[in-house]
Amino acid sequence: MNIDLINKRRIFGIISHPDAGKTTLTEKLLLHGGAIREAGTVRARKNSKYAKSDWMEIEKQRGISVTSSVMQFEYDNRVISIMDTPGHNDFGEDTYRILTSVDSAVMVIDAAKGIEAQTKKLFEVCSMRGIPIFTFINKLDRQSMDPLESMQELEEVLGMPSVAVTWPIGCGKEFEGIYDRLENVVHLFRKDDNIQLDEDGVHGSKLEGVLNPANLSNLRYAMELLDGAGNEFDIELIKLGKLSPVFFGSALADFGITPFLKHFLVMSPAPGIRKTTTGEVSPLDETFSGFIFKIQANMNPAHRDRLAFLRICSGTFERGMNVTLTRTGKQMKLSQSTHLMANERETVDVAYAGDVIGIYDSGTFQIGDSITNGKEKIFFEPLPTFPPELFMRVSAKNSLKGKNFQKGVEQLAQEGAIQVYRNEYNEVILGAVGVLQFEVFEYRLVNEYNTDIRMENVDFTVARWVKTDNPNSLKQYQNSRCMVVYDRFDRPVLLFTNEYALRSFQDRYEDVELVEALDIN
Ligand code: GDP
Repeated sequence: MNIDLINKRRIFGIISHPDAGKTTLTEKLLLHGGAIREAGTVRARKNSKYAKSDWMEIEKQRGISVTSSVMQFEYDNRVISIMDTPGHNDFGEDTYRILTSVDSAVMVIDAAKGIEAQTKKLFEVCSMRGIPIFTFINKLDRQSMDPLESMQELEEVLGMPSVAVTWPIGCGKEFEGIYDRLENVVHLFRKDDNIQLDEDGVHGSKLEGVLNPANLSNLRYAMELLDGAGNEFDIELIKLGKLSPVFFGSALADFGITPFLKHFLVMSPAPGIRKTTTGEVSPLDETFSGFIFKIQANMNPAHRDRLAFLRICSGTFERGMNVTLTRTGKQMKLSQSTHLMANERETVDVAYAGDVIGIYDSGTFQIGDSITNGKEKIFFEPLPTFPPELFMRVSAKNSLKGKNFQKGVEQLAQEGAIQVYRNEYNEVILGAVGVLQFEVFEYRLVNEYNTDIRMENVDFTVARWVKTDNPNSLKQYQNSRCMVVYDRFDRPVLLFTNEYALRSFQDRYEDVELVEALDIN
């Protein structure tokens, strides 16, 4: 395996609170890479103007991005894949899972609003995995928080040490540009000009008469502070995810993006070693391997196809190759594969570790599946299940549609669109992280499985898996505040009405072992 092919690849996800500018930044990055020709393409997709299937109507109606995909582009001899994540508050589960397939994350923050609820949640998922997180503080062309305060907030609210790589000069109407501390260059806003500074940096005379005096004095003051008391730039800490490099700019004005991209490509990691249940896989291994982290069904209503998103972890993918699905031992030929570009799809013939490709699937794959062409059985570390907090009892309105209903439930559970449990009466209970998942579920059952459904609220908010050798014994715990259900692998789960009911259960039955989340496999 050619090491250069690996080292030139990057996979990252953009995380943000809605409206911070994720779509705008994605679009500008794609424009820089020449992957799209005009601004508006990504936004159009976000607004679902060119929706690829009818179920995306929901996106259109709600003006949000429910689905996600990956956009690949080339820039400066690098092959970059941006994993697009659903932006809405309601739709966390999918987003969390996608973040297990990236090697780094870019966190976009609105410079006026600072860190918002969803930024924090997604940050935690990334930081749990120890991946490098790059911060882009956006919308400097508007009135913003003092950048020193923004930096402080990162440390205080997220507990993440940070180091400013670029620094804003003024904001809003007085926004004059950014200073690149590593390159010692000032990029001027609106003037399309750069000033290379000498060894005195911002304290020299080169900026005098160029910047407004108040901005210059603030810049000098901030640099004195950061040089004196700020964190030192340390690429090792950055690669370990222990120090976040911070950039400032305006995605809308396409300002500050070039320096960001340039530094990001140097500092962010190329695909590395991935853990398996028995060891490790190196991207340089000759044996091909990868895992499925997302399945999206019925992208094209004319074909009713499913697309499995595969992250390649080692070796070379060649269209038509034979692989084994480790979970079942089944051999298969991967003949229908596709790149997932921003606005088009094309067949992919060859791909490498650090690429994400789509594989057309007729129902073989499950989320978390590993595939390989080697003899050794490889299982990549399982993707985590996130504990649902919302539950609904669901049934087919017309019992003659029972079969369609069961099929729909089964497939959507496999896809990871929603979690499915059954109680002792074989009723179906759905679990979700956000209410939107229920809406999508209902919409898809009606439209794809031709089944009207009845959904009723059930009064539970907390799920805990139970470790027991004797699932039958669990029945004794059932009462109005606790229900026993089984997940789709038949593992017992206790649902509680609230945290209080959970705590009193734990006090009463100290020897029952409850776990918050289980691995999918
Ligand atoms: P997302 O929800 O995070 O994807 O955010 P969008 O990219 O859709 O941006 C939300 C709104 O903020 C849109 O109206 C954008 O035009 C606007 N916006 C994004 N970036 C900037 C920026 O740098 N400056 C200003 N003034 N507005 C921006």
